[in-house]
Amino acid sequence: MTWRFALVIQPAGVDDDRRDFSATFRTIDPAEPALSVGELSTQRGDGIFESIGVVDGHPQEVAAHLDRLAHSAEICDLPAPNLEQWRQAVARAAEHGERRGEGVIKLILSRGVEHGPAPTAWVTASAAADFTVPRTQGIRVVTLDRGYASDVPDRAPWLLLGAKTLSYAVNMAAIREAKARGADDAIFVTSDGYVLEAPTASLILKFGDRFTTPAPTGGILRGTTQQSLFDHLREEGYETAEELIPVDLLARADAAWLVSSVRLAAPVTAIDDTRIELDSGLTQAFNRYLLTPRD
Ligand code: PLP
Repeated sequence: MTWRFALVIQPAGVDDDRRDFSATFRTIDPAEPALSVGELSTQRGDGIFESIGVVDGHPQEVAAHLDRLAHSAEICDLPAPNLEQWRQAVARAAEHGERRGEGVIKLILSRGVEHGPAPTAWVTASAAADFTVPRTQGIRVVTLDRGYASDVPDRAPWLLLGAKTLSYAVNMAAIREAKARGADDAIFVTSDGYVLEAPTASLILKFGDRFTTPAPTGGILRGTTQQSLFDHLREEGYETAEELIPVDLLARADAAWLVSSVRLAAPVTAIDDTRIELDSGLTQAFNRYLLTPRD
């Protein structure tokens, strides 16, 4: 699949209720330079983003992603995005994609150009990487201290925890550290011993017939994939919970997954030195569900 598409958006105010936002979109060549050198997203990582999975032309869970974009904008003091405008931009990007296979649509809202009058916004779309191996063979993870205690989100809101900001250098450094330690990925933990999330995914643990994930109390992102999967699991009669999870519970999990919009469910086969059973039946069921069109 060679799908690549990019669209620049002239951000509309939240109270702009026009039916058709096409006049605010400008399709650009994704291979050509498009941003000003004064862009604060590139100079400071000052902006927010979303990555939406696309399956056979259908963008997944768009409303949940747009709600999180609005939540991130609020935390970062960015102008509230006009969600209908962004929804139409996502639809436009999806229309230009392939009807078969998996893709990713990214939404970016930056504070704009230094001293500039307005935020910069754009949408890109492309084919997704092939995640067959992590989805079927699983991944090994190590726990990494995120360097702050569980009360930090309340004490230091300027850390923007809970917002999906463009400042992912720390998250990428954590994945490099995990690889240097012989693993595939990381799970962040607080300095006072609670489990958070992975650098680009949410964590789901299974204990018996109960599924649990760290509560999104401000320190981590509210995962759209985890929430969709938990809705599905409850419909199937399972118990689910979002709660405070002490680190020492990790080693006692019957199964574990990292889940996110594009990689979907990757079963965890080891956490630090503890082997975790790969439940291939459940993993296949999760990924079958996540690969069906979802709104
Ligand atoms: N946590 C972090 C830090 C992430 O970057 C992501 C996804 O990119 C997630 C969790 C999972 O979110 P979602 O399921 O909405 O993709």
